[in-house]
Amino acid sequence: MAKQVLELLPEELIQSILDLGEKKFRAKQILNWIYLKKITNFAEMTSLSETLRLKLQNQFYTTLPTVIQRSISIDGTKKYLLSLSDESKIEMVLIPNGKKNTLCISSQVGCARNCQFCATAKLGLKRNLETYEITSQVFLAIQELGEDKLTNIVFMGMGEPLDNFDNVIKAIRILQDDLCFNFSPRRITLSTSGVIPQIAKLADTGIKMKLAVSLNSAIQTKREIIMPISTTYSISELKKTLIDFRRKTSYRITFEYVMIKDFNIGNEDVKALLRFLGDISCKLNVIKWNEVDDLPYKTPSDKEIEKFINSMSVLSSAITYRKSRGADIDAACGQLAAKYIHNVKE
Ligand code: SAH
Repeated sequence: MAKQVLELLPEELIQSILDLGEKKFRAKQILNWIYLKKITNFAEMTSLSETLRLKLQNQFYTTLPTVIQRSISIDGTKKYLLSLSDESKIEMVLIPNGKKNTLCISSQVGCARNCQFCATAKLGLKRNLETYEITSQVFLAIQELGEDKLTNIVFMGMGEPLDNFDNVIKAIRILQDDLCFNFSPRRITLSTSGVIPQIAKLADTGIKMKLAVSLNSAIQTKREIIMPISTTYSISELKKTLIDFRRKTSYRITFEYVMIKDFNIGNEDVKALLRFLGDISCKLNVIKWNEVDDLPYKTPSDKEIEKFINSMSVLSSAITYRKSRGADIDAACGQLAAKYIHNVKE
């Protein structure tokens, strides 16, 4: 059966090439064409003989998602609505910031975790993405950037990456392999709503990357209201698992906290949060809730945000307030719902 090239690790490609009766170095040549020259069409791989090119065309293929809409925010953020081979729609977001270009990618079509404040949750889970559907978002973004370099990748688009564990892990291996995308582990962040068994499993894989955990409340009963996953995997168990994760891996964990007006930014929330974070070596990333149609939440005012952040000044350098990017095009955190707007102005 023909194989998707973008889901093969070098050793797998080498084996397939050996199985075709070809020499190992041919695999390296193919990897060079794909990952250095960004050419996936075998017909254009002129360092290979014509017979080999024909053979390869029957064995391997590359399917990139089709861009069906590009929206550009006033702040330069670009949102891509992508169509997959079965017509499923996903979104990815490219966020330029000085010399940095961060790509926010999806790991599932929809999501099963049902976080109450998130637009993706309203779609439910349609299906997991295949490994090549994850790596091909990165390939496409690199093509889109042209001369500019893609510097960072975050699994913060649609889906819960740890619910699509095997495909996400394989994609990360391909993204990091120096014969493939060659991303350094510290430039890849996986964000999770807190799937405890999979966090433990992730630590055991030995793969390095940055881990972000969407906390959003350090009060168990409150977190259960907005994040149903918390009824299965409690905050205290989550903390134990993360301390263990931190012990086994190299980077500090980042907690993400979406500030919701009149819900999770009061005094008791600050107290619980400081207690929760107190004995973990971590960072805290706060952002304000971005509006999602039909959801009953509100974004806090600038003054309320300032008060909340100031009340956590003991965390000093470990706290960052991330300004939302791309909100005018529904590309900010939690706004991805793969809505297809037919009447966009060209
Ligand atoms: N499922 C993963 C990754 C996708 S969500 C996770 O939960 O981490 C990426 C981030 O967007 C999470 O931190 C989530 O809490 C945040 N988020 C979701 N909806 C949001 C909204 N409406 N406004 C701001 N952030 C939101």
